[in-house]
Amino acid sequence: MNIQRKAVALISGGLDSMLAAKTVMDQGIHVEGINFFTGFCVEGHTHAIREKDRAKPKRNNSLWVAEQLGIKLHIVDVIEEYKNVLINPKHGYGAHLNPCLDCKIFMVNKARQWIAENGFDFIITGEVIGQRPMSQRKDTMPVVARESGADDLLLRPLCAKNLAPTLPEREGWVDREKLHDFSGRSRKPQMEMAARYGFREYSQPAGGCCFLTDKNYSAKLTDLWQAHGHKDYELDDVMLLKVGRHIRPAPHFKLIVAREEGEGRFLQGYRKEFVSMAATSHNGPLVLIDGTPSAEDLYLAAGITARYGQGRKAEQVDVKITDKDGAERTIQVKPFAKELPQEWYL
Ligand code: SF4
Repeated sequence: MNIQRKAVALISGGLDSMLAAKTVMDQGIHVEGINFFTGFCVEGHTHAIREKDRAKPKRNNSLWVAEQLGIKLHIVDVIEEYKNVLINPKHGYGAHLNPCLDCKIFMVNKARQWIAENGFDFIITGEVIGQRPMSQRKDTMPVVARESGADDLLLRPLCAKNLAPTLPEREGWVDREKLHDFSGRSRKPQMEMAARYGFREYSQPAGGCCFLTDKNYSAKLTDLWQAHGHKDYELDDVMLLKVGRHIRPAPHFKLIVAREEGEGRFLQGYRKEFVSMAATSHNGPLVLIDGTPSAEDLYLAAGITARYGQGRKAEQVDVKITDKDGAERTIQVKPFAKELPQEWYL
């Protein structure tokens, strides 16, 4: 009797991992998905906050992919463990603060532990040789297999024919002939395959699978590390980097200014952790103050807060300052009149 073989597919929410899983499912293998939540792959979350992105579907892409494929998805919180990957990447960062090679090694290693605990046979990823400059090169792909400990239990169905046969292929669990030989940056073969399967509206592949590949986000994270004097972080720290305008007038404090109502509502949730301010005599945004501002700094911050509201041209604006414990006071300020120095914007 044939044994039903089982594979776990790393599902990022993008097209490649979706097609990789589908390729193996088509061969009669039982596939389940696994998605690792690092705190940085929160695309759906930003769309949910900002009004501007209203038109985009608000969904968790990995769940959506699993639903399209009709497979079970395991979402694993790796926030704490991931800190070490991001803070001390053995193989360094990519163009920004993306530790892609270490990240892939970490995730495949977690998947390897998972299959051992759950009685699965092998691991699938959507990697394609030459697709990404760091983790998907001909010379780094074996590094992922080796350093994750997965070795030849790691099958990359989209480019398997360009790589040495893995255990599932040698054992005949999957037919190597029905796997693919994609390589390079062109996404055309993937698009064609998606069309064949009738997959539409999949998440458009951007620079990578998370915010760490984003230049502006990485600059804000670098600033946060500098301001804190260490690289450790909490989930809230890194979530807040994606919301609002971040303005640092001095090394010891910064302002997070809501850009619109949705962000204002989101920032409201942090009022017990930050000093916050908002104009009361005019409409204006909610602003959080991060750091250790002096009374004078708060005065400056109030001027900036006033500048971002409807009272920007007024002689005087009332700004309410609320401490973390809820104590409130109102000060009168003249809105910051000049353009803010460019170097204040993060
Ligand atoms: S883009 Fe982000 S999630 Fe994807 S491999 Fe790189 S660091 Fe990891």
